Amino acid sequence: MTTDFVKALCGSHKVELVSVANHDPEDWFACPICNMGDTRENVLREVGRHTQEIAARHLQEAARNTARQSKFITLSRKTIPKGIYRFVGDFKV
Ligand SMILES: [Zn+2]
Repeated sequence: MTTDFVKALCGSHKVELVSVANHDPEDWFACPICNMGDTRENVLREVGRHTQEIAARHLQEAARNTARQSKFITLSRKTIPKGIYRFVGDFKV
């Protein structure tokens, strides 16, 4: 399954979700290995949350690198907690 810009993967197996034929509701996507699935809408929502987390972590990392080179900026040590997702975006992390 492909969202607007990334593939939707099973959070456990990191394999692409596939459309399940003859399923009710019809727009059902699931992992071919563990059968974990949900409607297209719910998968997209979860992949969206995962995408936000990845983006936030990258931003924080970039801000840290900047802060390290400046004695005028200090940042908190708090890192963004890793969420648990049934479905994730296809990011190399
Ligand atoms: Zn799976």
